[in-house]
Amino acid sequence: MTIRRLCVFCGSSAPPGQAYDAAATRLGALLGASGIELVYGGGRVGLMGLLAEAALAAGARVTGVIPAALHDREVAHRGLQELIVVNDMQERKRRLFDLADAVAILPGGLGTLDEAFEAITLRQLGFFTKPVILLDLDHYWAPLLALIDHVIARGFARPAARSLYQVVARPDEIIPACFGPDRR
Ligand code: AMP
Repeated sequence: MTIRRLCVFCGSSAPPGQAYDAAATRLGALLGASGIELVYGGGRVGLMGLLAEAALAAGARVTGVIPAALHDREVAHRGLQELIVVNDMQERKRRLFDLADAVAILPGGLGTLDEAFEAITLRQLGFFTKPVILLDLDHYWAPLLALIDHVIARGFARPAARSLYQVVARPDEIIPACFGPDRR
């Protein structure tokens, strides 16, 4: 059986008192239960860290890809099966996209936005053909989705741009959306 790998982009912070941390932990547990490898930015902080911890605890293989300059700032996770240190952010994204069979975007900040749009625009150009899933937890991405609607309404993108990504509301929907319903 071929190993499936899910690349997850998410916040390097974890705002308190909201459901985001629980969703990251849940996805990590689901990856372990489904035998899917996590590939992500390699950090130990924020949602990234919670996700990696939960995936490791559930028995998932976890690979991190981190630029040397961020190794200390994002507190590289030392407990991963593999930590790939690259030269810069562009190389990190490229390696993550290459490794992944699908990409999931969880709530996050400006870095996550950059990563989400890189995945979506690469798909638009046909350079990336794997599924991209947005976890719209608690309608976190509603302003982003509204912005895309606005761009389409003003004629700068075709309505088909909406099919470049799938939107799901709960972490449990991510793996079936990426790999089909036989995967939990
Ligand atoms: P954030 O969503 O801002 O918490 O960042 C999440 C991830 O995005 C972290 O791994 C950051 O290193 C990464 N990131 C931050 N800024 C950028 C950027 N300009 N380009 C690509 N990735 C970034």
